[in-house]
Amino acid sequence: MVADAAARGIRERDETGRIGILSADGDEPYTRPALTKKLWTDPDFTWEQVPLNTVADTGADLRLNTLVTRIDRFGRAVETADGETVGYRRLLLATGSRPRTIPAPEGDDRVVAFRSAHDYRRLRDLATRGGRIIVVGGGYIGTEIAAALVQNGVETELVFPDETLGASQFPPALAERHQALFVDGGVRLVPGRRVEEIRAEGNILHAVLDDGGVRAGDAVVIGLGADPVVDLAAEAELAVDDGVLVDEHLTTSDDSIWAAGDIAVYPDPILGRSRVEHVDNATEMGEAAGRAMAGEEAPYRHTPYFYSQVFGTRWEAVGTVDASRDPLTVDLDDGRAVVYYRDETGAPIGVLLWNVSDARDSARAVLVDRERSEPALRARIR
Ligand SMILES: Cc1cc2nc3c(=O)[nH]c(=O)nc-3n(C[C@H](O)[C@H](O)[C@H](O)COP(=O)(O)OP(=O)(O)OC[C@H]3O[C@@H](n4cnc5c(N)ncnc54)[C@H](O)[C@@H]3O)c2cc1C
Repeated sequence: MVADAAARGIRERDETGRIGILSADGDEPYTRPALTKKLWTDPDFTWEQVPLNTVADTGADLRLNTLVTRIDRFGRAVETADGETVGYRRLLLATGSRPRTIPAPEGDDRVVAFRSAHDYRRLRDLATRGGRIIVVGGGYIGTEIAAALVQNGVETELVFPDETLGASQFPPALAERHQALFVDGGVRLVPGRRVEEIRAEGNILHAVLDDGGVRAGDAVVIGLGADPVVDLAAEAELAVDDGVLVDEHLTTSDDSIWAAGDIAVYPDPILGRSRVEHVDNATEMGEAAGRAMAGEEAPYRHTPYFYSQVFGTRWEAVGTVDASRDPLTVDLDDGRAVVYYRDETGAPIGVLLWNVSDARDSARAVLVDRERSEPALRARIR
């Protein structure tokens, strides 16, 4: 998603410069959020709306199925798995994230660690075969996929470690409401459990739980979060910790190399040093990186929001969403709610908007103002 946004950012300042995109993916850049949401739940949303049309819109030279294996910083070139060398004047690293997984039968295509368009097509196929699908993990991918499957008539079971679905993110009353969406939607919940491995027993897959129990299914989706793909940057000896370190111009420790999106640890003007694995961050930072590569000197100042949507309920957030950070819930009309997460001093460090639209800028302002008075906070977003 960063690659597409960056190509557009470059074109804002430079109509003719050559842009090359080397991607390990087999599909041209596409909108990932649709893979767990609209493609399953919106009958008017079709596959044709998934690609971002990067090549047609920007004239980039896109090479798919091309894995970059090494950066030669001093020769200003990258090497690919096919043994090709591609030179650059300016390089953007946008390698995204790799889904975490658990031990499973090698090469079994009924087990999907969900991330890509290829994974979506695989799961669509599995979903049409009938039978039960087990979803592992109660985060964004697990919850969205479980909702998507059950709304498409698939018998769906969701295994997650929290006692209530969402309890590590939302305060108890909101987590109960969140969980009720899934119970009412027909998802069978297996709370308080982790899956340790997947075993194949004949035609059936067994998800082995941490208490020794077993859940049987015909396919398994793994949604256990993702790790930033920083190998290339680390091997090239760029500064890396939890991600690739960039400055306010999105430049790495090598001033010919930029990084953006899921892999970038950047100085956020409100949140401080951050790494964000969400789409608003990818598109805004990607575009800014493209502009910076084409000569823009203004620093990157955007604080991203993130969102999820299940069973028609949408929540958005800015900053920290963590139920252990002293949450203050403000219930609004029509079942809407705002949650303020606070640090040890009582200052807000995150704002969750539950079915509240058009309030992202207000949420950012709350974080800037660090308002500690509870009555004042309660009045901020209505
Ligand atoms: C299924 C799904 C649903 C999502 N839904 C939401 C949502 O609802 N809301 C939200 O805020 N965020 C959502 N996200 C997160 C959002 O999509 C990501 O944050 C965003 O895609 C990150 O963009 P990126 O360009 O950094 O990484 P990616 O989009 O992952 O792109 C990285 C690309 O780099 C390629 N690559 C990696 N290594 C190499 C290499 N060595 N050589 C060549 N190519 C390489 C990969 O193949 C991939 O094509 C979702 C993510 C997924 C997976």
